[in-house]
Amino acid sequence: MATHAADVVVLGAGPAGYVCAIRLAQLGKKVTVIDRGMIGGVCLNVGCIPSKALIYAGTQFEKLTQHGSDMGFELKGEVKVNFPRMMEYKSGVVKKLTGGVGQLLKANGCQLLIGEAKFTGPKSIELKTDKGTDTVTFNQLVIATGSRPAKLPGFEVDQKRIIDSTGALSLEKLPKSMLCIGGGYIGLELGTFYSKIGTKVTVVEAGPNLLGGVDPQLTQVVQKQLQKRGVEVLTSTLCKGQKTGKDGVEVTFQTADGKTRTQSFEVVLVTIGRTPNSDGLGLEKLGLKPDAKGFLTVDAQRRTSVPHVYAIGDIAGQPLLAHKGSKEGVVAAEAIAGKKTAYDVLAMPAVIFTDPEIATVGLTEAEAKQKGLQIQVGNFPFAANGRALSVGEPDGMVKMIGDAKTGRLLGVHIVGAEASNLIAEAALAIEMGASVEDLALTVHAHPTLPETLMEAAEATLGHAIHIFQKKSPSAGAQAHL
Ligand SMILES: Cc1cc2nc3c(=O)[nH]c(=O)nc-3n(C[C@H](O)[C@H](O)[C@H](O)COP(=O)(O)OP(=O)(O)OC[C@H]3O[C@@H](n4cnc5c(N)ncnc54)[C@H](O)[C@@H]3O)c2cc1C
Repeated sequence: MATHAADVVVLGAGPAGYVCAIRLAQLGKKVTVIDRGMIGGVCLNVGCIPSKALIYAGTQFEKLTQHGSDMGFELKGEVKVNFPRMMEYKSGVVKKLTGGVGQLLKANGCQLLIGEAKFTGPKSIELKTDKGTDTVTFNQLVIATGSRPAKLPGFEVDQKRIIDSTGALSLEKLPKSMLCIGGGYIGLELGTFYSKIGTKVTVVEAGPNLLGGVDPQLTQVVQKQLQKRGVEVLTSTLCKGQKTGKDGVEVTFQTADGKTRTQSFEVVLVTIGRTPNSDGLGLEKLGLKPDAKGFLTVDAQRRTSVPHVYAIGDIAGQPLLAHKGSKEGVVAAEAIAGKKTAYDVLAMPAVIFTDPEIATVGLTEAEAKQKGLQIQVGNFPFAANGRALSVGEPDGMVKMIGDAKTGRLLGVHIVGAEASNLIAEAALAIEMGASVEDLALTVHAHPTLPETLMEAAEATLGHAIHIFQKKSPSAGAQAHL
């Protein structure tokens, strides 16, 4: 039983914790990072990275098999998915990245302790390792313990027949059919991937729309594409129960019209949200109490109500996104090092890796209206962009929201190819306080997808070149497509 006396402990080595630890080390702090052993956290091991590696592989397969002949490829014989090989590709990417984070922590002089941590006092941790129980003491603490898949009563996850996102990223065999319970981004991303490589996918969502909170104009494009791929989407539908057998799971639903329906699936994927990892930590020993949902409340420096304790990442609340956690990690580290700093993010981009992708930043049209703002809205379709057509990606649009009084850019919402990359320009523009006109006046290289942003800005102002707009645009007018 060893005792470690640390200056700053960062508990959790996910994208919030490891970034915080490295920034602390850069600022001259002696840092000890504790994790169960999942360096890189959910994001690198069972979240963002493995899902995107698989999604990319699935997209390449679909492009080749479904659209290759349009571009003149003659595929002789059957092109098949080697599912175990695809999983190996994903694991290789994960291994490279998690190894890289481990090396970075080491290179920055951070001490890494592997074990299960529990607080035993305001400045002490009991750490269960594979060799025994250690004690770690600290002066300052950053809690970055993240979150885990939320459970659905009656659908207990066994990672064989009933799986969560972690299970979906490491199946051994490609299932013939899959039910995704939950039409949020994780369910739709994974459902899209499996549908692309041959699984018959059904998505059930309790609410009236997929991807709640996203502009419905964007969601509709994704829903149409899902249906084209043969994905059945059932909204306003509840999963009432299931019977797991040898060959699959028989699920009973109550559909929007109040009728009951029973259907069998080889695999059921439960993605109904995330639960913060705040239980079982002994937070009461620190003098901390999470909110009703289990999240920790923090101030602008990410300090909790206990002055020497900070919280960052998923545990500190919405949005549960890796880049939000990393930003908080930098802020908390700088605050601990005595720098004048604050989490004052104006533009928090969010990406959904469906096909096409969705990416949003800033206010939606509905949010801007709720705030009572007078707005200008412009849309520009991918179908009118030369690059989108050349790469066979005509489905999509950029929707821009501007403040009609000040001209300031309020929000950008993209559905279409490379939306994940396109959103960066919009985030920078909002963060810099740019106007819609600034985007319209900026020369964008041709032929590129970012031209859709310039033209959406022009459409918002009423003078896009590559779509017809009626003359005399008035503030608040929609572009005419
Ligand atoms: C399938 C999926 C896809 C996703 N895709 C994206 C995406 O594309 N983009 C995006 O921004 N976000 C995505 N996310 C969300 C993203 O993964 C999380 O927001 C992010 O990982 C949160 O980072 P974190 O550092 O707060 O916590 P985590 O990444 O959850 O890390 C917490 C760490 O704490 C450790 N830990 C917890 N408790 C203890 C304890 N008691 N003792 C020791 N160690 C402990 C864990 O082992 C873990 O390593 C995705 C999530 C999932 C599940």
